[in-house]
Amino acid sequence: MSLPVTSGHRVVPFNDFPAHYAFIRTEVDSAVRRVLARGRYVLGEEVEAFERDFGRYIGVPYCVGVASGTEAIVLSLWALGIGPGDEVITTNLTAFPTVAAVYQAGAVPVVADIGERDGLLDPCEIERKITRRTRAVIPVHLYGQSCDMDRIIRIARVRGLKVIEDCAQSAGALYRGRKTGGLGDLGAFSFYPTKNLGAFGDAGAVTTRDRTFYRKLLRLRNYGQSDRCTFIEKGINSRLDEIQAAVLRVKLRHLDDWNAQRRLIAAFYRKRLPSRVLLEEHAYGRPAHHLFVIQTDGRERVRTGLMRKKVETLIHYPRTSQSQRAFSGQKGERFPRSERFVRRALSLPLYPEMPLRAARFVADSLLEIWNA
Ligand SMILES: *Cc1c(COP(=O)(O)O)cnc(C)c1O
Repeated sequence: MSLPVTSGHRVVPFNDFPAHYAFIRTEVDSAVRRVLARGRYVLGEEVEAFERDFGRYIGVPYCVGVASGTEAIVLSLWALGIGPGDEVITTNLTAFPTVAAVYQAGAVPVVADIGERDGLLDPCEIERKITRRTRAVIPVHLYGQSCDMDRIIRIARVRGLKVIEDCAQSAGALYRGRKTGGLGDLGAFSFYPTKNLGAFGDAGAVTTRDRTFYRKLLRLRNYGQSDRCTFIEKGINSRLDEIQAAVLRVKLRHLDDWNAQRRLIAAFYRKRLPSRVLLEEHAYGRPAHHLFVIQTDGRERVRTGLMRKKVETLIHYPRTSQSQRAFSGQKGERFPRSERFVRRALSLPLYPEMPLRAARFVADSLLEIWNA
């Protein structure tokens, strides 16, 4: 693959979805045609097969396909019986949907600060936020790195809390040799197109080892019905459709290869860039490298410099959860580490189809900008 050339400059996009589709086009097209011709479009054999495949991939007996990552969290909370009056602790540095899902479930999100070297929810900060009303913790495996699950699960067990892993960014990531999503009580996945395992539209799933939660999730995603005419709980419509499930089955077969490509690019960046800008890599895990985030002073100058070189960057995330207008509560509380982190975070291009020479161009451009 050659770098696109625009007016004499090389262009490094943040992602390359046309290249991604081109790679799997034959397989995906025939899977989609199969669904269209079969005539069953909602809750059919593709969804069942994907649930089986994905559960096996994560290493759990049960998986339920749902409509999005956000609703994977909402339904997980409901499956645990969590709702109005209940507090749920999560991180102050995440995609806001983690928090929005807690609101949608009717519960109260309580955010806690991060570790400054990895950007992940700090287990000590979880303990400081626990009250009589706390029912669950949602660790977010941010940027594809795994949280320290042994520590989090130990705290949860001692304090009687449930654990929902937000795995939206960590499909395929390992923690002590096990896949994220099989460690807590429930794992919530998003298959939004930009994620490591992305559909061609919205999609999500919940993974679990618990048969009771599983049966409950099957009902909750489908109007609360237990059979065609019997409604035994207050559910919603949050189903994974057959076309997306068929696409996901195809793409799941490539996920390990794509994540290996991501690891190559990430390793290259880590070799080339100064260690002071890199996030800490934990010995306990193998990240899925959903994003490659660095920490830099003078971020705007760096971003502008990269833009001039036609290197596309993004910021994950420009604001903490607590500072969003939609967030209520914890007013006036300070979160020094996440507040500093969001001012210095910069996400570099990293995607499976990215040529190594594009990564070299990004790294060399950065070094040039920092040394200028
Ligand atoms: C993408 C994402 C979500 C939401 O997933 P959707 O499928 O977009 O609803 C939740 N949490 C995190 C950490 C995410 O990155």
